[in-house]
Amino acid sequence: MDIKQNTLRAISELDTAIFCHVQWLKRLHRSLISRQIQNPDDLRHDAHRHCKFSNWFYDKKNDFLRDEPSFRLIDTLHADMHAKARKMLEKLQEGNQITLDNYDEFIDCANHFKQHVRDVQTDLVGKVCLLDPLTGAWNRYAMDQLLSREIERMQRTGHPCSLSMMDLDHFKDVNDLYGHGAGDIVLQTVVKQVTICLRKYDSLARFGGEEFLICMPDADENAARLVLDRCREALAALEIDVGGGKSIHVTASFGIALMQPDFLVGDVIQAADHALLIAKAEGRNRVVLASLLC
Ligand code: GH3
Ligand code: MG
Ligand code: MG
Repeated sequence: MDIKQNTLRAISELDTAIFCHVQWLKRLHRSLISRQIQNPDDLRHDAHRHCKFSNWFYDKKNDFLRDEPSFRLIDTLHADMHAKARKMLEKLQEGNQITLDNYDEFIDCANHFKQHVRDVQTDLVGKVCLLDPLTGAWNRYAMDQLLSREIERMQRTGHPCSLSMMDLDHFKDVNDLYGHGAGDIVLQTVVKQVTICLRKYDSLARFGGEEFLICMPDADENAARLVLDRCREALAALEIDVGGGKSIHVTASFGIALMQPDFLVGDVIQAADHALLIAKAEGRNRVVLASLLC
């Protein structure tokens, strides 16, 4: 399943997870009011790993979200909320009075937790509109926004930023020889491989068809070339299983342009595209720098 499908699933399952949390909250209040513990698991030190919300949160299918700091913060807030609930239940079990301070501390924490989970869900909805459905790379609209921000940042800080246009070589042949489905698998595999080879703060977007933009902050053309040569070599070495017992190899060409402070987004894309055309003309499977062209 691709990232966009996974994100859509997570958005919809979050509604159920929040509902489960609200049910847990209701049971906790019943415990507090009746002074009878409704669920002994709430007294465990790892209670936050034994509720229905946690069943969803810790499921492997959500691992693709765990690099996101805001997703990880859910874990911290959730554990904190359960710890405060446990504190009240322990008092109850020991026959002690639960103070209003205890309760306020808990309910503030629970409200914060629920609001944060909703915020994460809203962010995912925003993100899903910016992803390419086939490959999970950013879409062109997302890259336009990102490049505008990078140009502004460059004007402010003077740090370099390079943009590359990448195009698969003879990709039409893949479709013609192995079918459109195989072509789609190639596009997905290429995105996965390039993402692995890029630096953490680089961004990859599908510009259209088999053309991709790569934004590389804090990289001059030479630094960008090093990274993209690594991508290019990794792609060329990759054996792509396209089903039916067939595996194929593809290569890609790259054009790199360094952003200029007076550039508009369209200017930098055009410069990278021009360098790409030269890479194609020179024989493909290579990286060409716009600055070296006359
Ligand atoms: P070059 O080395 O000059 O780039 O040659 P090429 O064959 O890669 O270039 P061309 O522009 O002729 O072909 C691009 C092909 O990409 C044609 C189109 O059918 C295919 N394509 C575009 N989008 C998709 C897609 O989403 N899935 C698949 N399978 N093919 C796609
Ligand atoms: Mg091509
Ligand atoms: Mg093309």
